[in-house]
Amino acid sequence: MKGLSGTQPTTADGHDLVSDGLRHDVLDDFEQTGIAWVWASDADNVLSYLSSGAAKAIDLPLSTLLGQPISTLFETDPDDPDNRAGRPLGFQLNSRSKLTDVVVRCALPVAKAGGKPVWLSLSARPKIDSAGKFHGYRGLAKDVSVEYQRKIEDSRLAEFDSLTGLYNRHRMNRRLDSILAAYKSAKRSCAIMMLDLDRFKQVNDTMGHPAGDSLLQQVAERLRNVIGERGEIGRLGGDEFQVILPDLDDRGKLGELADKVIQIVSQPYPIDDKRAIIGTSVGVAIAPYDGIESDDLVRASDLALYSAKNGGRGQFRFYSADLKDEEQERQLLLDDLREALAADELQLHYQPVVRIKDNHVVGMEALMRWEHEERGWVSPGMFIPVAEESSLIGALGEWAINQACKDAMEWPSSIRVAVNVSPRQFTANGFVDQVAAAIENSGIDPDRLELELTESVFLGDSEQTEKTFDALKKLGVRLALDDFGTGYSSLSYLRSAPFDKLKVDKSFVDSCTLKDQNSAKIIAAIIGLSKALGMETTVEGVEAFDQLEVVKSKGASLIQGWLYSKALPQAIVLQNISAGEYLIEPSGPDKHRPDRRSMFRRIGLIHEDHRYEAVIRDLSTTGAFIEGLVGVPLGTPLVLDLGGGQLVVCTVMRSEDAQIGVEFETPLVSDGAGGLCTRHRVSPYALAAAGMPLGALPKGNYPMEQLQPPPTSKPQFLQVQVGGGA
Ligand code: C2E
Ligand code: MG
Ligand code: MG
Repeated sequence: MKGLSGTQPTTADGHDLVSDGLRHDVLDDFEQTGIAWVWASDADNVLSYLSSGAAKAIDLPLSTLLGQPISTLFETDPDDPDNRAGRPLGFQLNSRSKLTDVVVRCALPVAKAGGKPVWLSLSARPKIDSAGKFHGYRGLAKDVSVEYQRKIEDSRLAEFDSLTGLYNRHRMNRRLDSILAAYKSAKRSCAIMMLDLDRFKQVNDTMGHPAGDSLLQQVAERLRNVIGERGEIGRLGGDEFQVILPDLDDRGKLGELADKVIQIVSQPYPIDDKRAIIGTSVGVAIAPYDGIESDDLVRASDLALYSAKNGGRGQFRFYSADLKDEEQERQLLLDDLREALAADELQLHYQPVVRIKDNHVVGMEALMRWEHEERGWVSPGMFIPVAEESSLIGALGEWAINQACKDAMEWPSSIRVAVNVSPRQFTANGFVDQVAAAIENSGIDPDRLELELTESVFLGDSEQTEKTFDALKKLGVRLALDDFGTGYSSLSYLRSAPFDKLKVDKSFVDSCTLKDQNSAKIIAAIIGLSKALGMETTVEGVEAFDQLEVVKSKGASLIQGWLYSKALPQAIVLQNISAGEYLIEPSGPDKHRPDRRSMFRRIGLIHEDHRYEAVIRDLSTTGAFIEGLVGVPLGTPLVLDLGGGQLVVCTVMRSEDAQIGVEFETPLVSDGAGGLCTRHRVSPYALAAAGMPLGALPKGNYPMEQLQPPPTSKPQFLQVQVGGGA
């Protein structure tokens, strides 16, 4: 018996003494075991031999496989976590390098439809003769489908969020790191959006975790639809999502996208046979402007998100450097507000609601007023959102309802009182009891009390919301839907909720006299709708006679606006009432002047090599009035520096004394916070390329600052000091 182990005896010319027959036997037996298969290619890397077992596993006839180039027969997996940076199979074959456990699948269409792909691990050596001539590969192939599938699954788990199928935090961090690293050298930009769902917790708590899970899956699906190929989406945990948007730094486009995301996420969700409504806030940060490293960029987008949530939810915000200060400011304000409430320093003022046809006051809306000893009058538009972020809103709201009911008891019974209720107050436990107690304590007829709610009370669990509505209706109070048309504006709310009144938001009135705007039509539609549903309508924010004419012609009957009266302290209200019937004649401007965003904002103006300090007094999307430079000729090109890399190229169109009017080359866009910003910011990289006079620029992260030569010319314009406040 010739053994197979040990050194094989050979003939003098080097041939094995083992017969070719035995070789075949051994090979056959080995192939039979299925432990591995054998394959070979010729000098052109065409498959010349393959164990029949392999062909069977692949599920194609051997005859189809033999004679085909290996690189067209097999392919590596682009998703293989070990082979991401790996070279394609063809490359390795062409370079005639050794193959070690290269996992491939058959690239030909396989007959067995729907079958799991078979993964083969190929190992082989190139056969090169003593003259250095290549004769093809000889090697082994193994079926590694089970192991490979498991490995893919494991890495999928490590990278994906199993609930939604989106990427997980780990993967998003890695992606962001690698994108930013690559983009830094390529000087490209990349935006990230951070999303946090509003009122998700409420759905989860009241409808149960399976409902919460289903909701998150639906949110993920909607995000995929909106974002599409534009970016990568991940769930970072809980109800927090992140979107990476490579090569996007246009704040106009980003704002539109964020708006779209907010709209789509805010549509109602079917869950089992119920409905849930949530909202979302979005924070946006853009590299390299808001951060170059991923940590900085993520922190910036978090701050922007936080600010968006505080701004009243359902909004987006771009990061800006002031956000950090804003946060501190907010905390101080909250502390002061808490003290003011305890010290009984808050007041309610009352704004009359007037019936157009006879000027009768039929109701008054209670609006909170706070005179701060240093800040002066603080607007409720500012402190209510701050209170809403803390539990203070509950106490604040309770105080307001009680005070308003008490005050209204001193008015004629024909005048109703309206009280604003924040969504958080509405959904808090014990709200209905609070209202009942206020009615009880004051002795007011519940039909005289009108609660003003905004559309965001519909966020969350609709069943719970309906229960609260029912309980309030049982008490006999009236319900009004405030700011209608500005929020989620789903008509389905109106079908299910027992509102007695719709309040048309001031924003429609603001633009109802402008020609090419739909506002007048929308007002007509809202009034028609509420009539059809048996509700009253109040039109808010009428300031001028031309607006009054428009809304009257659209069917308005009740008006609340400065044309009739601003909000008044109770003492004045009582005086007015004591005169007998409470009538108010409209008085005010004939024509409404659109909001001109007048302001006092210090900015920089760049002309040639020089930087001047000036003040913006009036800013619109297309131009600005600027004070502080004397003797600037018409047509002078200037660059306006709004800070944070926001440079606006503009031309002087008016010039008088120290005032100039400029027109922008490109219009500004909304910054998500009621202000304006530039679409693009000037990247530090671009400045250098454009040869900008860097000496004239503000301090910033311009890596090439030191290269800038000092200005050579003299300033051409006289700069004057502008003082005073807004
Ligand atoms: P709102 O409920 O929509 O109140 C109407 C706002 O429009 C009031 O602003 C009112 O002064 C203002 N307004 C009315 N007519 C005109 C007009 O012709 N021109 C202009 N420019 N403005 C007009 P205010 O008092 O600053 O209140 C802002 C918001 O703060 C209110 O909007 C309401 O959402 C909230 N708020 C006020 N008081 C309370 C309160 O006691 N509780 C809660 N939860 N929110 C309150
Ligand atoms: Mg209101
Ligand atoms: Mg309103």
